[in-house]
Amino acid sequence: MPEKVDILGVKFNNYSLKGYQNEIIRRLDDKLSTFIVTANPEIVMAANENPVFMKLINQDADFVTADGIGIIKAANILNKPISERVTGYDLFTWLLDIANQRKNKVYFIGAKEEVIDDLGKRIQKEYPNIEIVGLKNGYFKDKLDIIARDISKTKPDMVFAALGYPKQEQLLDILRKQELPAIMMGVGGSFDVFSGHAKRAPKVWQDLHIEWVYRFLKEPSRFRRFLALPRFIEEVYRSKRGRR
Ligand code: UDP
Repeated sequence: MPEKVDILGVKFNNYSLKGYQNEIIRRLDDKLSTFIVTANPEIVMAANENPVFMKLINQDADFVTADGIGIIKAANILNKPISERVTGYDLFTWLLDIANQRKNKVYFIGAKEEVIDDLGKRIQKEYPNIEIVGLKNGYFKDKLDIIARDISKTKPDMVFAALGYPKQEQLLDILRKQELPAIMMGVGGSFDVFSGHAKRAPKVWQDLHIEWVYRFLKEPSRFRRFLALPRFIEEVYRSKRGRR
């Protein structure tokens, strides 16, 4: 197993996408409980402010992937290169293909009611062999323990939670501790994108690497969250100086 890469305390696995895929297939075959965290700079900053969340990621997750170019840049700054960016969305769509091939049972939880409805429709149409055992919006009142129990009862092979961090990881952590034999991953805004409710920036914006500006203009309320990125890079440089 390649050595883990520590970025501001979060320990990332250093596999390529192919490497993760091989490991995940092996664990799916062996029916091992598997919890994947796709960590971006915001999650790293949040973990630095929340020791319980940091511990959950480092001790309970089976895989921590570098989600976002910011993490790859940070690894380079620290001279501990990570082989590849592996986003939640990439793993999510790949896992849907696998689930479809294997006729797996999949539980989807998160996002608004209209989003999860449209997600269900797209899955039925494009992944007809997937057995949907749960389709629940992310705005529930119940405690996470109750939700986890309901998910367990359906005996899923895969669970995708789009509740935003740290809630999605807290829910999956309960199931991981109970050794639910499923592949479980927090996928942030992936349901919104997959269902067609969140549009990506036009291609030119993407090519200029200013997709984040587009997102900000669409949702100015996210401004505080965008500030996490420069703060993250600043902290990475600080930690590099501290190591010398
Ligand atoms: N969300 C949810 N329940 C909540 C809060 C958020 O289901 O209590 C959903 C939200 O609708 C969106 C997803 O979680 O689909 C991700 O939210 P956000 O973009 O804030 O998180 P990020 O992906 O940036 O972590």
